[in-house]
Amino acid sequence: MQPIDKINNDWILQFKKPLIIAGPCSAETQEQVLETASKLSKASIPVFRAGIWKPRTKPGNFEGIGEIGLKWLQKVKEETGMLIATEVANATHVKYAIAYNIDILWIGARSTVNPFSVQEIAESLKDTDKIILIKNPIHPDFDLLKGAIERLIAQGIKNIGVIHRGFSAYKNAPYRNSPNWRMALDFIIRFPNIPILFDPSHICGQRKGISKIAQQALNCALSGLMIETHCSPDKAWSDAKQQITPEKLLEILKCIEFRNKNTRQKLEVLLLQIDEQDHHILSLLSERFKLSTIFGKLKKNYNLPIVQHNRWEQIIDELKPYIKQLDI
Ligand code: PEP
Ligand code: MN
Repeated sequence: MQPIDKINNDWILQFKKPLIIAGPCSAETQEQVLETASKLSKASIPVFRAGIWKPRTKPGNFEGIGEIGLKWLQKVKEETGMLIATEVANATHVKYAIAYNIDILWIGARSTVNPFSVQEIAESLKDTDKIILIKNPIHPDFDLLKGAIERLIAQGIKNIGVIHRGFSAYKNAPYRNSPNWRMALDFIIRFPNIPILFDPSHICGQRKGISKIAQQALNCALSGLMIETHCSPDKAWSDAKQQITPEKLLEILKCIEFRNKNTRQKLEVLLLQIDEQDHHILSLLSERFKLSTIFGKLKKNYNLPIVQHNRWEQIIDELKPYIKQLDI
């Protein structure tokens, strides 16, 4: 198997920088697909995305339109000349995507997390020269992402890229899926040969903030963006809150700067990491205040003293070695 840092990833060079992939979360109707694509193509977006099979958190939500949507994607290609991209989560999806000449296949975050799924997809794509993008797994496990890439390489797949779409967080997070700038930068440093794109839509989970974080990603030397775009976002059947119109996308792209060689990349990543930690500290403090308020009320009910000296000393004793270990 070719080592992961040796694979040659020239596929990105066929696109103007930064590479922009746009289109709806899901293909819903032929009209919605064609109208969105026609507007994006007029804005010179090179790749149209649309989910055909949707991994939904809860049962009962729209789970994708299925095979008929692939026909609509083919129409997009015929009518606009855009490349077409969709998510695959198993060998059957791959079979259909190949049969309908989909150009770019991506593995979603909920599949990357499962080595069985990645292996099945990789084997069904054996020796393909299509572009295969891998979204990060839902938790920041660098080796799991690397392992997924290695599974593709082992099957002779050459044109590989990664999409940073953030990581699940429990409550109080400012993002739907928090970005991890350190991990993105580590990836660029270790595998400069593998293009890494950024998905501000699934990170923000809402329209607000997309443009700011997209610019931050490009400042950190990521190679492009995948942005969910819908002709009537409020009426979307999935991820309605985070989708933007093609007009809005164009507005964002007009303001975005892309510097080819970013000498300030390290500084940008450090600043973003500091912001990220500030968010964590604030959310932890808020959780702690809530817990101590409940605790204070219980103490009052049980007539316990406000300060319990034993507990105070015990906490300090327990924390001392921990603080030492943190090396502050
Ligand atoms: C998507 O791109 O619509 C999607 C389901 O994304 P993710 O795999 O990042 O959740
Ligand atoms: Mn989506």
